[in-house]
Amino acid sequence: MRSQEAPRTKTGDQHLGMDRLVIVSNRLPVAITKGARGQWQVEPAVGGLVSALAPLLRERSGLWIGWPGNAEEADLGEPLARASRSLGYELQLVPLSREETDRYYQGFSNEILWPLFHDLQTLCRFDPAYWNSYQSVNRKFARAIAERAGPRDYVWVHDYHLMLVARELRSMGLERKLGFFLHTPFPPADIYFKLPWRSQILAALLDYDLIGFQTLRDRNNFVHCVTGVLKGYHVDARRQVTTIKTSKREVQVGSFPIGIEYKEYRRQAASSEVTRAARLVRTALPNRKIVLGVDRLDYSKGIPEKLRAFGNALDRFDDLRGKVSLVQVVVPSREAVLQYRALRDEIEGLVGEINGKFTRLGWVPVHYMFRSLERTELLAYYRAADIALITSLKDGMNLVAKEYCAANIDRSGVLILSEFAGAADQLRRNSLLVNPYDSEGVANAIQRAYHMGVEERQRRMRRLQVSVQKRNVFWWVDFYLRTATGKGVDESLAP
Ligand code: UDP
Repeated sequence: MRSQEAPRTKTGDQHLGMDRLVIVSNRLPVAITKGARGQWQVEPAVGGLVSALAPLLRERSGLWIGWPGNAEEADLGEPLARASRSLGYELQLVPLSREETDRYYQGFSNEILWPLFHDLQTLCRFDPAYWNSYQSVNRKFARAIAERAGPRDYVWVHDYHLMLVARELRSMGLERKLGFFLHTPFPPADIYFKLPWRSQILAALLDYDLIGFQTLRDRNNFVHCVTGVLKGYHVDARRQVTTIKTSKREVQVGSFPIGIEYKEYRRQAASSEVTRAARLVRTALPNRKIVLGVDRLDYSKGIPEKLRAFGNALDRFDDLRGKVSLVQVVVPSREAVLQYRALRDEIEGLVGEINGKFTRLGWVPVHYMFRSLERTELLAYYRAADIALITSLKDGMNLVAKEYCAANIDRSGVLILSEFAGAADQLRRNSLLVNPYDSEGVANAIQRAYHMGVEERQRRMRRLQVSVQKRNVFWWVDFYLRTATGKGVDESLAP
């Protein structure tokens, strides 16, 4: 579907001196599975990266290189070509064996980099076998890029799975411009330094020409790590996009907070289908305020902390009992990792405890869903919710915060937002900012949001919407690609 926002974008590939955009990420933006009768099926995948980039590639007939998400040997040529046609851009798969997905993906990416980059180093499993596989899979991705991308294409590599790709491409003698964007946070030096392969990864990242982070905090953490581990670099840390001069190249390092397809979310949220569905949600939960949580099953999202805070609010504030319900959507994720299964048990235990303690006839405090929602249903919950409650312990951005604002048609919702989500940089003034570890503080924010007058709610939400709309996903790609291609950054694009 053509976005109404796209024509406002200042970036056109022809203006950037590139033939086309090549996106490289661990996962292709589709999930390929085998149906009941043995036929291959292609389904859209869930996740912030996909939500952000798919509309842009559709606009720009690009190429996306990635792993399809299964380890089976299969001829995926036809289902992929079908998916390419329906998506409106080309897909190139990088096949991975079972051992590679176990070690590079589940292992190095999900059991080392993910927890480390979310400040949870005690959850890391620093297995050297994971590191070997991470290097060889990054090499595999580099080969696929070298085969498919033309000399004037701009290659934009995404996320923590592929930090070594530029190093591999350089060692093959490829000297074109390469960009990298990290969707997760980058940790402070004292946490990052726990990584046994810290120097190799920092040095490899400096083989990109532009390294993008979500926030200035992440960018500065990276710069501190570089200056701490690799000697002889001088960096101007005050600027939005700064330059690190290595012996080989000048590397630009900047913060580029990712946005959403604002108008599209808003248009869909205002549709009659979503309006009807939102009304059904409200009718099912009458005479109360709805507090909404939407999170992937992940320890970085602070779901147990949120439940404890909600329980604390019900304990301490009589006026909330019978008057608020938390609708908590948990999207299944990484269930092969032991810690995620334990997290699910913890969440479900807490939901049971709270409901066991407070439920009374006609009121259940926590409505819990462990599944992924279709867009219409998700938007209906966004629209129906009086309060969005986001308590990430650490989060690259948190697109849910922005989507909730975009979908708030009557502009009366309140956003309670963790100060440790990247989105807080941009939305701190008009949300209720909380420390997710402070359960009383979060409970107080729930009570404050519950009692907040309509004028204040509307004033805050209007400002949140202006900000989310201005820095939408098209703004993000413009800002990144104009910086990447040296076209100069329009002042109005700087955050
Ligand atoms: N999402 C979805 N279905 C659901 C719940 C969430 O498609 O049932 C999407 C949501 O719209 C958002 C993304 O998943 O675009 C979550 O992005 P976020 O940045 O909040 O967190 P991530 O999961 O990427 O860490």
